[in-house]
Amino acid sequence: MTPEDALLRVIHCLDRQHASPYKARAFVRALDVVRTTDPVELAERARDERLTELEGIGDATASVITEALAGRTPSYLVRLEAESEVPLTEEGAAYRTALRGDCHLHSTWSDGGAPIEAMAATAIDLGHEYMVLTDHSARLTVAHGLDEERLVNQWAEIERINGEIAAAGHAFRILRGMEVDILEDGSLDLRDAMLAELDVVVASVHSKLRMDAKQMTERMVMAVASPHVDILGHCTGRMVGKRPESQFDPDYVFAACAQYGTAVEINCRPERLDPPRALIDLAIEHGCHFSIDSDAHATGQLEWQPFGCNRAAERGVPIDRIVNTWSADELVAWAAA
Ligand SMILES: [Zn+2]
Ligand SMILES: [Zn+2]
Repeated sequence: MTPEDALLRVIHCLDRQHASPYKARAFVRALDVVRTTDPVELAERARDERLTELEGIGDATASVITEALAGRTPSYLVRLEAESEVPLTEEGAAYRTALRGDCHLHSTWSDGGAPIEAMAATAIDLGHEYMVLTDHSARLTVAHGLDEERLVNQWAEIERINGEIAAAGHAFRILRGMEVDILEDGSLDLRDAMLAELDVVVASVHSKLRMDAKQMTERMVMAVASPHVDILGHCTGRMVGKRPESQFDPDYVFAACAQYGTAVEINCRPERLDPPRALIDLAIEHGCHFSIDSDAHATGQLEWQPFGCNRAAERGVPIDRIVNTWSADELVAWAAA
C-alpha cells in the first residue's frame, strides 16, 4: 500500500462513516502534498521524522504516510476500517447479494465529492455490474445542477470512461441518468427530448417540501405518471431528527407508482432512510417496484446500500420487485417501456 493508497482509503472510510468533511479535509490536503512531493524526498523525510515540516502534513497524516512507506497497513486505517464498517443483518445480506447495481449517485459534476471514474472504480470493487450516474438537474443551483449543455458533455464523458472500463476487462457499465427536480407544479426540470435520451430517470422533490398535502400529492402523482420517470427518489424528503416528512396522500402516490411503472426508491443515506417503515409497507401492498439506492456523494457512501437492504428485509420487500437486482439490460428495457 503506497502512501497515496493509504490516504485515499482513509478518506473513503471517513466518507463511509459519514464523518464531518472537516475530518476528511486534513487527509485530502495530505494527499495533495504526497502527490506533489518527490517520492525520494518523502521517504527521506519519513525516515528522519521530518514529514510534519511540510505544510499540510500533521501528526496523524504523517503516521499514515510513514507506516505505509514501511510496508505496514497504518494503524489509524486499521482502526477506521473496523469502526466505519456498515452493518448488514443476516436477512439484509440476501438483499445485498441480490443487488447488481446502484441507481442513484452523484459525482463532482454536481454536488458529489468524487469524479465519475472514482465512483465507478469503487462500484466495480463492490461487485456491481452497473451504476446509474444521477447528478442533479439545473434548477438545483446550490448543488451545481447540470443544464442541457453540461448533461450532453457528461454523456460524452460517460462514453469515454465506459470505453476505458471495457478496455480494462471489467464487465461494468455507467448508465446515463439524472436526479431530476420535481418542480412545484409537478413538471420536471428537464425537457422531454432530453429525458428520452437517459437510461434511467430518478425524480425527486427538493423544494417547497412543506407545501399543502393536496398540492404535494398532485405534484408527486404528476411526476410519477410521466413516462420518462423511472424511480421516485426519497419520497418524504425527511431528514431523521431534523426535517419532518412532507405531507401527501401516500395511497394516491403509490397507486400511481404501481400504475405507471415508477419504482419507489429506498434511499439508504443514514440521515434519510426514506421512505419510513409504514410507507414501505404501503408501497408493498400497492404492488410497487423498488430500488435500493445509496444516493452516494462520495466513494465511501456507495457502501451504504446495506442500510436499505436491512430495512427492505425487515419489511419483507419482495426481492423480485427490486429493479436493481436486475441486469443492466433488463433495467434499461424496463425503464424504456
Ligand atoms: Zn435528492
Ligand atoms: Zn441524490
